[in-house]
Amino acid sequence: MNRLDHRDPLVFDTHELGRRPGSLRKVSRTLKAPEAFGIVDVIGVPAGSEIVLELRLESVVEGVLITGTAEASVAGECVRCLEPVEDALDVDFQELYYYAESDERGRTRSGGTSEEEQADEDEDETYRLEGDYFDLEPVLRDAVVLALPLQPVCQDDCLGLCSECGARLSDDPSHHHDAADPRWAALQGLSAAPGAEGDGIKTSDAREGAAENQEK
Ligand SMILES: [Zn+2]
Ligand SMILES: [Zn+2]
Repeated sequence: MNRLDHRDPLVFDTHELGRRPGSLRKVSRTLKAPEAFGIVDVIGVPAGSEIVLELRLESVVEGVLITGTAEASVAGECVRCLEPVEDALDVDFQELYYYAESDERGRTRSGGTSEEEQADEDEDETYRLEGDYFDLEPVLRDAVVLALPLQPVCQDDCLGLCSECGARLSDDPSHHHDAADPRWAALQGLSAAPGAEGDGIKTSDAREGAAENQEK
C-alpha cells in the first residue's frame, strides 16, 4: 500500500530502527542525484552527480527524527560573467517524520489528542512516514536550496562582462573602449567609401580592395 518506492535512493526504511522511543540508528548512503536539486538555471546539484548522506534516525514518541548531513557538488554559472561555477556543498538538516495517522501503533503510542493531530495536519511542512518508509527528497531539496548562493559568482571580485563587446573583464582588467569608438568606426566606414560613391552596399572586402588600390 506504500506510495513510496523503496527502490528510490532517497526513500529510507525505518523498520530496523523500531518504534521504541530513544532507539537510534545510523545510516550512510551514497547515491546519484535522481534529478537536479537547486535553483533552476542558476546553480544546483546536477542530476546524476554524487550525494553522500549521513543520517541519524532516532525514534521519538511522535515519529522518527532524522538528523543528517549531505555532501554534494554543485554547478552553475557566474551571474556576472556566465563562466561555469563549481563548488562543494555540505548541508545539515533535521526533520521529524510523524508516524502516519493511519498507523494505529503510532497513534496509540503518541497519546496525542485529536486537536494536536489536527494541528499537525494543518502545518504545510509536516512530513509523515508511510508505513516504515520515509522520503528524504523534500527535506534534502529544501536544505540544498537554502544553502546555495542566490547570486553565484566565479570569484568575489568578478568584474563581469564588457557591455560593448562581451569580453570577460577579469581576464583583461585594462580592457576598455574609447567612448568615441563606435562613431569613429561609422565615420571611417563613410570615409573609406569615396571610391564607391553612389554605391551604398559595398562589402568591407570591396572597401579594403579600394584602399589597397589607392595605396598603390
Ligand atoms: Zn564571473
Ligand atoms: Zn569590450
